Amino acid sequence: MTCTAHSKSPAPAHARARRSKSRDWARDLAFDQNHLWHPYAGIGAPVWPVVAADGVRLRLADGRQLIDGMSSWWAAIHGYNHPALNRAVRAQLKRMAHVMFGGLTHGPAIDLGRRLVDLTPAALEKVFLCDSGSVAVEVAVKMAVQYWQARGRPAKHRLLALRGAYHGDTFAAMSVCDPVTGMHRLFSGLVPKQVFAPRPACRFDAPWEPSAIAEFAALIAAHKDELAAVILEPIAQGAGGMWFYHPQYLREVRALCDAHGVLLIADEIATGFGRTGRFLACDHASVTPDILCLGKALTGGYMTLAATVTTAEIAAAIGHGEAGCLMHGPTFMANPLACAAAVASIDLLTTGDWVTQVSRIGAQLARELGACRGLAAVADVRVLGAIGVVETREALTLAALTARFVDAGVWLRPFGRLVYVMPPYVISPEDLSVLTAAIADVLSGM
Ligand SMILES: *Cc1c(COP(=O)(O)O)cnc(C)c1O
Repeated sequence: MTCTAHSKSPAPAHARARRSKSRDWARDLAFDQNHLWHPYAGIGAPVWPVVAADGVRLRLADGRQLIDGMSSWWAAIHGYNHPALNRAVRAQLKRMAHVMFGGLTHGPAIDLGRRLVDLTPAALEKVFLCDSGSVAVEVAVKMAVQYWQARGRPAKHRLLALRGAYHGDTFAAMSVCDPVTGMHRLFSGLVPKQVFAPRPACRFDAPWEPSAIAEFAALIAAHKDELAAVILEPIAQGAGGMWFYHPQYLREVRALCDAHGVLLIADEIATGFGRTGRFLACDHASVTPDILCLGKALTGGYMTLAATVTTAEIAAAIGHGEAGCLMHGPTFMANPLACAAAVASIDLLTTGDWVTQVSRIGAQLARELGACRGLAAVADVRVLGAIGVVETREALTLAALTARFVDAGVWLRPFGRLVYVMPPYVISPEDLSVLTAAIADVLSGM
C-alpha cells in the first residue's frame, strides 16, 4: 500500500510538535487580519492567537497564559480540555462522526433527548436538535407560527419581545433583538417588524413594583390577535445589556400569555445549565414556557449544538397542520459528535456540584466586584449566579481595554459600557480573584 492518507503510523509526537512550533505567527496573523471575519468585527480587528486551552487557562502563541473569564461566551462551563468530554468525543468519533438524521437515528441523539426531556419542566417533551442558538430561535418561531396556522389562526404570526434582548443573528432571531443595538434600520424591509415592550425595569434583587409590567400588559392586550408568541430571555438578558430582572415579571408574563392566548418562548441559550444559580433561569419564577431554547453550554463548549423543546400539544397541532411537519431540518441535525459531547457535559453537571460552585462564584463576585462601586468610572455592579457585571458611566474602548486585560493575564471581552465575567464553574477562588482584581485595577485607572 502506498496510500499515506490512512497510514497506521502517524508522524512521531516530536515531529508534530516541531511542526506546530514552526508556525510563523507573524505571517499567520497577517493573513487572519487580511482575510478572516471575526464576530461583530471589521476585517483587521486585533486578535490574539490561542494555541491550547486547559482548565480555565488559554495559552497564547507567545507562551502567555490567560485566565478565562468568558467561558467562550457562556459555553465552557467545565473548563477546557476536560478528560470526560474528550473521552466522549473520541469514543463517538471511533463509531461515526456524522450521519444524516433524516430517516435515521442514533444513540447519542436518543441519550441527549432523554436527558433534555428529564431535565426540563415536565410539560416540555418534544425535542428538536439544531445547529446553533440562532437556529434554535428560528425553530421556536416556526413552531409558534405553525401552531397558530394549524389552529386556524394564521393572523397570529408576530412576536412580542423586550428591548435590551439578544436572541441571535439570523433574520427571525434578529427581528426580536433590541431594535436599536440590533441596528434593525440597516435591514429594514428584510427584518420583520415585531412588537417591543420596554426592558423590564424592576431589578432582580429590588422589591417588586407592579407598575413594571404595565406597558407589557397593555401591549399584549392590544396585539393579542396578531401575536403568535412572546419571546424573552428569562431573568437575565445577556448580550443585549447584561440585565437581571425580577422573577415576578416573568410570572406576570406567563399569566398574561395564558390570559390572552399567546405562547411563551423562553430563550435560555445563555442562562441554561445553571449559570444563573438555577438549572434554568425560569426556575427562579417556577414558570414553564411553551417553547424552550437551549444552546451555548449544552455541549460544555465543545461543539456547536442547540435544542428547541416544546409540549406535546404544540407538536401534535403542528403535525396536524397543512405541512404535516415542522418545516425545518438542517443537514447536520443532531450531529453525533456534538450530541455525545452534550450527553457527557450534562452528566458531568448533574453528577457534580454546580449548585455550590455557582453560588460560591456568585458570593465572591458580589464581594470583589462590589468593591468597584466606589470607583468614579463605575455606574453599577450587579451579580446573578456565576455572572458578574460592572457597568461604566462612559462607553469603553474595546481594543485598548482587551489589551490591558491580556497584559494582566486575564481574558475578558467588554462591550458598550459593560465589563462582565462569567467564568467556567470549575474556577478556583484564587483564579477568580485575579479576574476581579484585573477589572478593579483597569477601571480604577479610568
Ligand atoms: C448566544 C445567544 C443566541 C444565539 O446563539 P448562537 O449559537 O450564537 O447562534 C441566542 N439567544 C441568546 C440568549 C444568546 O445568548
